Amino acid sequence: MNCKSLIDFLTEYDQGTLPMHQRLMFDLHLKLCPPCKKFLDDYRAAIKMGKKCCCPKQEPALEHVPEEFIQAVLKAKEAMPIPGNEPRK
Ligand SMILES: [Zn+2]
Repeated sequence: MNCKSLIDFLTEYDQGTLPMHQRLMFDLHLKLCPPCKKFLDDYRAAIKMGKKCCCPKQEPALEHVPEEFIQAVLKAKEAMPIPGNEPRK
């Protein structure tokens, strides 16, 4: 799983509808990728806020993640070295 597919699966993961093996991949990626962990935290915070002030019948506004948000996560990931993911010497 990469950052892009993690974001694609974010809604299903959060709703608990993701198949078990994908859920495990998702959890694993979160452990290895701090920017995505932060993204998930921000996403949940935004959903919470959205639910507080919107009609409960409406879907959360972040259901569709904008492309620039994805790019921001990918950029943050590039800037941050991931432990255990360095090229072998
Ligand atoms: Zn990631």
